[in-house]
Order: sequence, then structure tokens, then C-alpha cells
Amino acid sequence: MYLCGAYLQEPMSKEKTPNQVLSILQMKCPNCRSGAMFTNKSIFPISKMLQMPEKCSHCGQKMELEPGFYFGTGYVSYGLTVAIMAAVFVAYWVLIGLSYKDNSIFIALGVAVGLTLLLQPWLMRISRVLYLYMFVKYQSGNKIVS
Ligand SMILES: [Zn+2]
Repeated sequence: MYLCGAYLQEPMSKEKTPNQVLSILQMKCPNCRSGAMFTNKSIFPISKMLQMPEKCSHCGQKMELEPGFYFGTGYVSYGLTVAIMAAVFVAYWVLIGLSYKDNSIFIALGVAVGLTLLLQPWLMRISRVLYLYMFVKYQSGNKIVS
């Protein structure tokens, strides 16, 4: 798969390459892995949560490759949401136990839905990050200027 291939990619130079998973979690630019992808570090104010600079402040990588580029992130966040809910169910099943005889399935469902709702701002951001990482490889485009 395309995404898996990115993880196996060899770094082009012997210079210390920032860890890809860490860079994704810290929401750094995929090209230089040091510029921030979002204007505000915090998700507050919520209205500016998804505000991104036009270009990376460090390397000049475009943050929106084409108009409407981030429409595809819906699929990414859907996949992440399903994965989180499945993980909650498995954890609940292993740690507490699921049974048809009581309401445990509904409680587990409530916990899963509550958790995904709480994580929604983070999910929306990380989906954008993952989406851009699928298209932009490390040091693939612009040279680091600063
Ligand atoms: Zn950058």
C-alpha cells in the first residue's frame, strides 16, 4: 500500500532524519518535518482550529496542494474513527467484558462514541496531516531555505 511504502522509505541523506511517526503526531510539515502545519498550536479557538499557513514557514512547502485538496480527509477520519471504536470495544471486552445479558454493549458503545466525539478536533487535524503525508515525501520538493 502507498501509505505503508512511505514508512519503509530510506532517508536520502545520512543527516538525521526526523522520525516520521513523531513528525505526524507533532503535525509537522511532511517535506521538512520541522515547520508547523497549523497556524495555532492549540485547537482553541475552535473556529480557527483548521487554519493552516499557505506555505510552510520553514521550507515553503504548499499546505494545500490544490483547491479542495482536503476533501479527501473525510475518508481518513472515517477510517480512524472506526479503528478507535473497534479498539474501545476490544479493550472493553478484554478488560470489563461484554455480555448480551446486561447493558454492557450499550455502555461500551457510549464510551466509544464519547471518546471519538472528544477526539474529533484532534482527528480532524491528524487526518489532514496524514493526508498531506500521503502526497508529500520527506525532502521531496522544496529545499530547506532557513
Ligand atoms: Zn516544511
